[in-house]
Amino acid sequence: MTENLKFRDPELTRRVAGKIKEIAPRKDTVKICHVCGTHEWAITHYGLRDLLPPSVEVIAGPGCPVCIVPASEIDEAVQLALKGIVVTCFGDVLRVPGSKMSLLDAKAEGADVRIVYGVNDATKMAKKERSSQFGFFAVGFETTTPSTAVEITSKPPSNLSFLISHRVIPPAMKMLVKMKDLNLNGFIAPGHVSTIIGLKPYEDFPGVYHMPTVVAGFEPLDLLFGIYMILKQLKEGIPRLENEYARAVHWEGNPKAIELMEEVFEVTDGNWRGLGTIPSSKLKLREKYAARDAHLRHDVKVEYGVDLQPGCRCHLVVVGKIKPTECPLFIETCTPQKPVGACMVSSEGTCRIWAKMITRKN
Ligand code: SF4
Repeated sequence: MTENLKFRDPELTRRVAGKIKEIAPRKDTVKICHVCGTHEWAITHYGLRDLLPPSVEVIAGPGCPVCIVPASEIDEAVQLALKGIVVTCFGDVLRVPGSKMSLLDAKAEGADVRIVYGVNDATKMAKKERSSQFGFFAVGFETTTPSTAVEITSKPPSNLSFLISHRVIPPAMKMLVKMKDLNLNGFIAPGHVSTIIGLKPYEDFPGVYHMPTVVAGFEPLDLLFGIYMILKQLKEGIPRLENEYARAVHWEGNPKAIELMEEVFEVTDGNWRGLGTIPSSKLKLREKYAARDAHLRHDVKVEYGVDLQPGCRCHLVVVGKIKPTECPLFIETCTPQKPVGACMVSSEGTCRIWAKMITRKN
């Protein structure tokens, strides 16, 4: 076992890793994709890839919500800030590059950009400072969307509007399946997102695309069990939808959160950084809540911007076509301290996770 392992149950971990080796194909290779930044963190941090036989590869898909916000939507937030609106956002959004500048650059130019830990912080600020207009830059997958929906339906102060950049995960998984050169054999579905949406939205993966799909938790053993369950399905030749994370994820998800999301948002096509348009993958405010839309209220309009900085390969990293170490800028000119691409900015970005691990080892 790798030396950086600090498993809660080393013996059981060893046994599950042994079972994976037993069941893994001898000749063919198997490519399993996860779509969650926390999964990538756990896999990298615990060195789980080192426990897998060479025939089993686990790749990271677009699981970092900050990494996939296109430059044009950062540009919208920047435009809002430069118009004198107080822009509130999560800390890891601050340094994500837009086509010309990041929100941090806008702040350096005098714009009022504030980090919040949750949308309710934005509400509190707006309530306190009634003479200013506030905008909350809502970034995230289904895990964070319900809290935005709660705030919008809770009659927030009239000087608060919302710049919605929420995305939904299953359409991105469909895009990965359809990338023929990716040759996926199975999915580890995201644990956090699934606590909200449940299992139903993944039914097509085994049913239509013949893709074994297992929702997994975040402990090393969860992930190893998830990988084992996928390999077992492949061996049996019967793709199924299974739930390894039954202690937190239920078939129906969180019905109240789903209802709230459906009340506030409708699904539309959305651009993902470097990947172009993914059908039905973005959320927008329903007509009923248009008065809260920062675009309309503050006349925010931008062109579709350039997503990738010169030399950046984030568009290949986010779909697992290359490893971060295969980007020529990795650690050379792109570092966690001075990120070039979005995948190096957020703590959930694959490049940042790999960079932190490598610099820790050295
Ligand atoms: S190392 Fe930096 S430039 Fe290269 S893909 Fe990752 S984030 Fe983009």
